[in-house]
Amino acid sequence: MNALALHRDATVVDLHSDTILEVESGTRDIAVRSAAGHIDLPRLREGGVDAQVFALFVHPHFTGQGFGRVSRLLDAFERLDQQDDRLVRVTSVAEIERVSRTGRIAAVLAVENGSAIDGDVANLDRLYARGVRMMSLTWNNSNDLADGAVEERHGGLTPLGGAVIARMLGLGIVVDVSHLSERSFWDVMGSVRGPVVATHSNAAGLTPHRRNLTDDQLREIKKGGGVVGVNFYPSFTGGPSLRAVLAHIEYLVNVMGTDHVALGSDFDGFSQAVEDLEDVSKLPNLTAGLIERGHAPADIRKILGANALRVFRQVWGR
Ligand SMILES: [Zn+2]
Repeated sequence: MNALALHRDATVVDLHSDTILEVESGTRDIAVRSAAGHIDLPRLREGGVDAQVFALFVHPHFTGQGFGRVSRLLDAFERLDQQDDRLVRVTSVAEIERVSRTGRIAAVLAVENGSAIDGDVANLDRLYARGVRMMSLTWNNSNDLADGAVEERHGGLTPLGGAVIARMLGLGIVVDVSHLSERSFWDVMGSVRGPVVATHSNAAGLTPHRRNLTDDQLREIKKGGGVVGVNFYPSFTGGPSLRAVLAHIEYLVNVMGTDHVALGSDFDGFSQAVEDLEDVSKLPNLTAGLIERGHAPADIRKILGANALRVFRQVWGR
């Protein structure tokens, strides 16, 4: 099987994109193919993506009005979903498999930054009811739940953050550890039994950066059965090229094994051009690169999506 055939046949899952921000602001109509940004529905299909995680990102600017902000992002997503039958919101792995078999794109909703709930655990239930199935406690800044990667305020996870995690696990919402400070990370890992996901983080051992994960952190994620989605953002890969992304995939595979590596492009969350991975339509190049480097097709399928689906199934329970 050649690279393109393998890519088309595999279930491809991207764990993180910021595209909904542009949908909400009206910057772009993602129903139409364009050269702007990284993701629109035609390019998702060209790129062979079966399931796209759409992050509902609440910027710290909205602190105190997080729930209103995330609700508007959800409204924008729902308008798109209702107008366009190429996109289907999903809340189970069975649905992802069914949607992908019909050539449509499964949309998984995630919240980026727990400030979205304005400190009220009941808001988590409201987000769950609208389909949210994954959430990160913070963005880069600290909030009332935990410290983020670039701001130490509490010394890790707060008691409220612990209560939020307990409710997330009770509902079946995947805990995303990307963007946490290192102390927050270890606190979270101490309070979650079962897998977590770092949706869009790379290896600090290869590219030292506060947003990347140390080898110890990677091994801890592996221990819980979780996955790390490789981020394509050049600041986190060490260079604007597919080659740099592949180097991170191989580093993560060496530290964690092939069962714990996934994709988390961060598409539409950065503006630099990545050589050979200019937008989502170029994703088959990543599969070709892994084949060229001697990775077995079964391992490539895991990295492209099967590992992410394993964690979703485990946390969502279906
Ligand atoms: Zn992010």
